[in-house]
Amino acid sequence: MNYDEGEGWHDARIVPFGPIELSPAAMCLHYGQSVFEGMKAYRAVDGRILLFRPDKNMARLNSSNDRLCIPLIDEEFSKKAIEKLVSIEKDWIPSAEGTSLYIRPFIIGIDPHVGVHPAQHLLFIVLCSPVGAYYPEGLNPVKIYVETNYVRAVKGGMGYTKTAGNYAASLKAQDEAEKQNYTQVLWLDGVERKYIEEVGTMNVFFVIGDEIVTPALQGSILPGITRMSAIELLKSWGMNVVERKLSIDELAQAAQDGKLKEAFGTGTAAVISPIGHLKWGDDVMNINNGEIGPISQRLYDTLTGIQWGKIQDEFGWTVEV
Ligand code: PMP
Repeated sequence: MNYDEGEGWHDARIVPFGPIELSPAAMCLHYGQSVFEGMKAYRAVDGRILLFRPDKNMARLNSSNDRLCIPLIDEEFSKKAIEKLVSIEKDWIPSAEGTSLYIRPFIIGIDPHVGVHPAQHLLFIVLCSPVGAYYPEGLNPVKIYVETNYVRAVKGGMGYTKTAGNYAASLKAQDEAEKQNYTQVLWLDGVERKYIEEVGTMNVFFVIGDEIVTPALQGSILPGITRMSAIELLKSWGMNVVERKLSIDELAQAAQDGKLKEAFGTGTAAVISPIGHLKWGDDVMNINNGEIGPISQRLYDTLTGIQWGKIQDEFGWTVEV
């Protein structure tokens, strides 16, 4: 679909995957006016094709659009367009456990223009690709370290959006983490370097005593759709889930006192990803002996159960295509 000043969004169309034509002066290549989403279509055990909370992805895309001066999209129309696209791709959606069709909607400013201002011509594209299971050999707890050199986002910045620049800001930290055999880094807030924010592509939760704590959204953390769903599930089970500020000192103290029972990340790709090992400087926290804990397992089973149609979707989260 195209956007042109004066015309609005127009010419929605479905075309085979292939290269697109772009001016070398296209603004997105230079000034980062680029937003995206990540969502999945699942082949349920009974053969139905299910999307998971696509309305939330469209709402978050518009929140990113607003921050990056991109004209808002019609959320309902875009959701229906994605459903149509997925229905065409139906036969390519794999059925093996854990596999799905990854859907990547994105918008870029394409004016051939040198100079920083909001684009007046944009492209909204949705591409799809079948993906394998994130954990083909079962749920494996990940190793994470607390990032103390680099900052990903600050309050007032773009941390709450899904824009390309946020991921560019994290590349160096991610690269260094991988070289040291860590999966990803845990980001701290960019001002005091004290409060826990999120991991590369996941929001985080910690089971501390009888509380399940997740950092409150304060503008620098992506409002994850899996995070939101995990909170709703935990609350529906009568568990004490709290969104608040959580400092790294408090977490380290809780680990030392034996109160840190479980830690896990949430995200579309990783679903629920147990964190078994967390390093902060010289301090190493081995959480639940590096094994998956009961809350993480229950969340994983329930979320994937709903996504693959194995469990009744009481929340109305899935949309059949
Ligand atoms: N934080 C960041 C920075 C991410 O890229 C993602 C993945 N979209 C998440 C959190 C998790 O969000 P969601 O549950 O919507 O996939």
